[in-house]
Amino acid sequence: MLGLMQKQALSVSSLIDFAETHHGDVEIVSRRIEGDIHRSTWAQIASRSRQVANALDQWKIGQGARVATLAWNGYRHLELYFGVSSSGRVIHTLNPRLHPDQIVWIANHAEDEVMCFDMTFLPIAKQIHARCTTVKHWVALCDADQLPADSGIPGLISYENWVSQQATSYVWPQLDENTASCMCYTSGTTGNPKAALYSHRSTVLHAYACALPDVMCLSARDTILPVVPMFHVSAWGIPYSAAMVGAKLVFPGAALDGKSIYELLETEKVTLAAGVPTVWQMLLGHLGANGLRFNHLKRTVIGGSACPPAMIHAFNDQYGVEVLHAWGMTELSPLGTLCTLKNKHLDLPEDEKMKIRLKQGRAIFGIDFKIVDDHGKEQAHDGKAYGDLLVKGPWVIQEYFKQEGPSPLVDGWFPTGDVATVDADGYMQITDRSKDVIKSGGEWISSIDVENIAMAHPDVLMAACIGMPHPKWDERPIVVVVAKPGKTLVREEVLKFYDGKIAKWQIPDDAVFVEAIPIGATGKMLKTKLREMLSAYQLPA
Ligand code: AMP
Repeated sequence: MLGLMQKQALSVSSLIDFAETHHGDVEIVSRRIEGDIHRSTWAQIASRSRQVANALDQWKIGQGARVATLAWNGYRHLELYFGVSSSGRVIHTLNPRLHPDQIVWIANHAEDEVMCFDMTFLPIAKQIHARCTTVKHWVALCDADQLPADSGIPGLISYENWVSQQATSYVWPQLDENTASCMCYTSGTTGNPKAALYSHRSTVLHAYACALPDVMCLSARDTILPVVPMFHVSAWGIPYSAAMVGAKLVFPGAALDGKSIYELLETEKVTLAAGVPTVWQMLLGHLGANGLRFNHLKRTVIGGSACPPAMIHAFNDQYGVEVLHAWGMTELSPLGTLCTLKNKHLDLPEDEKMKIRLKQGRAIFGIDFKIVDDHGKEQAHDGKAYGDLLVKGPWVIQEYFKQEGPSPLVDGWFPTGDVATVDADGYMQITDRSKDVIKSGGEWISSIDVENIAMAHPDVLMAACIGMPHPKWDERPIVVVVAKPGKTLVREEVLKFYDGKIAKWQIPDDAVFVEAIPIGATGKMLKTKLREMLSAYQLPA
């Protein structure tokens, strides 16, 4: 027997409609790239998102077509989020920190039809436009009078020119809730970047989950500042959750330094901020150097990389801000676990509580996880046994966009490439990574790309890239090189060889020379052994 409830599809449009109807006067504040502060409201964002939909209709952009952004966190980006998805197109947030060649590859793979970019990224747009073969329209996210006359990009139009003359009314289409809404590529896998393709259903369910009290605990009384970029897994889904609860949003634009973020936190009375550890390091540095305090900030969500204990201590003990340590992945929309205490922990001594806070946290309802050994056997939840972390749930990918080869799932579970323990209370802790990638300041560096470039050098016999712990960036890559017999190589020459081939920040910090790189039985480089060999190694200052 079926239940007798209404079959209303979950949709992104319902989020923006709700925010407009019930929280229309709540502010959306953005620091623009020009440096000034722009003020909007949920009602204005909703109205302009309908103008975006009309503008896309005028260009005859079809259902399911990809509309790409190369943009900072700001109100225009938010309007695109809601206008593109609600009208049945897919918003594809591109990572402008990648090398232009990588951006071209991704845009072509995604078959983007419209490309909207912040003026900061005009140089990238100029470099790539001729090679983005599927893009029909280029939009600069600026006022009409800011549009450069000599961009060289055919048909370039300003966002305001494109959108602001459109009608503000639009009837959202009734979409199947499994319709694609948003797309994000990740370089956190081996091989070429791969895209997670989120649906309206997964986005709304993830938004509900984010807002739960034991997750980010979001409400209409919150002012939220996502430092985490909107091009990195939809700023952890915060724009959608904020619409769902009617929270005020504050967008930092391009100014991510400690001073600028602190100013916004204080002037806009931000209660919750979210970002990767590197950003908070800059903020804490600014506070410490200037003897400042937080007057409004209550909680900060820190994830993307392991949160260092000193950071949790500083926020908690020095500044009275609760740290919510989160773990997630692009493939998980991204939230998987978040660390909050249980009732039974509240009377524990502070150092015991801290041990728990350092873990990546408990599962959120909707996400199932397990840890398994090499044979797929589940490992005990005793906080000691470790294994590969596998997850499943309604906001976890089933496969990548244009999946090549077999499904990434193992018996219905998605292998995360992280290695973890789980304790008896269900707190998961990441202990290692089985995937061959390096995460620096919250962004991926493919060790394979770094190795392949070194291998293209005529004097290199073999190269291995490994991550080394770094106080600011969490990890930095180094390349370990074996020179061809009779050849001598110097560090500077190897590092120079990377110029122009990958993004500057992806170039290794050092080249180290060895006689041989340890190789395992299957012919693969044994990076664990290599790390042991280099245990005394220190990154250059
Ligand atoms: P991304 O898809 O770029 O969000 O990266 C996801 C990966 O980042 C995870 O699989 C982990 O390897 C790493 N990661 C994310 N959050 C954390 C965390 N809190 N602690 C340790 N590693 C993390």
